[in-house]
Amino acid sequence: MVSYAFPARLQIPPQRDERAYRRKLFQPMMDLALNFLGVGNARALSLGSSAAVLEMAGAPELLIDCGPATLDAFTATYRRLPPALFITHAHLDHIGGLEGLYYKLATGPATAPVKLYVPVPLLPTLQRRLADYPNLLAEGGSNFWDVFQLVPVSESFWHRQLQFSVFPVRHHQHLSAFGLALEGLFLFSGDTRPIPEILNRYAARGEWIFHDCALRSNPSHTGLEDLRREYKPEQLVRMVLYHYESPEAGTELAAQGLRIARSGERFALEQRPRRMAPVVQDGHDETAAAAPSSLPDAVGW
Ligand SMILES: [Zn+2]
Ligand SMILES: [Zn+2]
Repeated sequence: MVSYAFPARLQIPPQRDERAYRRKLFQPMMDLALNFLGVGNARALSLGSSAAVLEMAGAPELLIDCGPATLDAFTATYRRLPPALFITHAHLDHIGGLEGLYYKLATGPATAPVKLYVPVPLLPTLQRRLADYPNLLAEGGSNFWDVFQLVPVSESFWHRQLQFSVFPVRHHQHLSAFGLALEGLFLFSGDTRPIPEILNRYAARGEWIFHDCALRSNPSHTGLEDLRREYKPEQLVRMVLYHYESPEAGTELAAQGLRIARSGERFALEQRPRRMAPVVQDGHDETAAAAPSSLPDAVGW
């Protein structure tokens, strides 16, 4: 009989051989992966709306954000609607697909409400931007929230026996954008300026760091120069960049020796991030990954 383990953040005692312990720990939890459905910013729809799916043994378990292009990408990949979602913030490139999801659920075959995990401070904005539309169905008789099971979240929430951490990030008004972590496995920054203090707290176990980054920084987002200034080399080694402004910007970030996510790219979370190969000046092999790094897995490095 397969026994499901305790949540990631509570399960990892300080052991020397944490890698072996982790393998034993997560094996029954079956192949956790993060699949990027899109990696573009609000003006780069050709790259897809930035959103990712936490998979368990290949099955979609939690969709992170739902922009205008997300639902089509999700259904094309999984042939079904998302079973649960987490929303990082209320910019339309991250929630613009929720109205379409409402219509599919409200007018399709009856299903159980879809779980929608939303940081508490986002609720008023979500209400105004999506739920207050007068008569979402022309004939009336339906409310936006009827098709969802709204789960307001503060610092953490449970989903599929995993405990996720939620933290505020730096994107527009204070407490208007949030990131998500499954400690020991991954941190997903959401849209943000650099947040080194958050990474030190929520991504200190050698896990993957999926981070907003464009080629050029601005008051709303992280740029290449910010990364180099704000983060430690060992954090950069674990970083995967998304939410960039164009395919060319992505190519340039990769040419600088950084790892980028591409639409449809899947990251096995139980494998540790590998070092990138040194940048090759002729530009051909700049994104190739080198052999797995010898970075220690211990807490606190
Ligand atoms: Zn965005
Ligand atoms: Zn945003």
